[in-house]
Amino acid sequence: MTCKTCYIESSPTNDALVYLTLAEVEEYLDEAEQLGVREIGFTGGEPFMNRDIVPMVAASLKHGFEVLVLTNAMRPMWRFKAALRPLARERLTIRVSLDHHTSEIHEQERGLGSWAKAIEGLCWLSDNGFRVAVAGRQLPGEDLAEAQAGYARLFTEISAEVAGGLVLFPEMDETADVPEISEHCWNILGVSPSSPMCASSRMVVKPKEADRPHVVSCTLLPYDPQFALGSTLAGARGPVPLNHPHCARFCVLGGASCSS
Ligand code: SF4
Repeated sequence: MTCKTCYIESSPTNDALVYLTLAEVEEYLDEAEQLGVREIGFTGGEPFMNRDIVPMVAASLKHGFEVLVLTNAMRPMWRFKAALRPLARERLTIRVSLDHHTSEIHEQERGLGSWAKAIEGLCWLSDNGFRVAVAGRQLPGEDLAEAQAGYARLFTEISAEVAGGLVLFPEMDETADVPEISEHCWNILGVSPSSPMCASSRMVVKPKEADRPHVVSCTLLPYDPQFALGSTLAGARGPVPLNHPHCARFCVLGGASCSS
């Protein structure tokens, strides 16, 4: 499945990155614990395509981290239902992606038949005691309050408890020109420099040809070598220059964050 307006090129046909192994994840969990990290997130593509995802989540919980898994809640997740069920607890949040609160617009983005499967997965998570969150989109021209009300109506209709909250991401237009971010922007826009993901988070990825994973600034820029920060979390703690168009478009002007 490839989303129509994917802006991080994470479709199944992009094989620039390969799955992390459990051993590689455990090494980073040890380092994260030493550094006092609070939350571990798993994203993809679709994280349930990695056959080791459940042991990875279990290992993260065992270390005492809060854990966030971003998923489409479709068939890749369903195959792990039995293994996943015992992990339903407060420190694990599963965030389901729904591109809209209507089936029509969701399926325009994700393809025919994708709505019923995602709703089935979302309801299974809710019915089985998982702390569920939902990530949706606020369409251009769509009023925020209307979008929130639409999702609230949907959750009531399908009797899903979304205790982890709703986060709405802005639609990104990759062709739109965006201003460069300077230090003055923070005051002008009323945005805090601590708000972008790169101010407090890092992502670990493994390029196809590499011997080992490395750390990048954020989930939005997994391929750009300018945002590759070395092989350790400790070495990747320095400041990140916000010199990619995604920085302005998504994080500073759009105000989006992937943390829980
Ligand atoms: S896109 Fe830029 S501003 Fe946003 S988290 Fe990544 S590096 Fe930071």
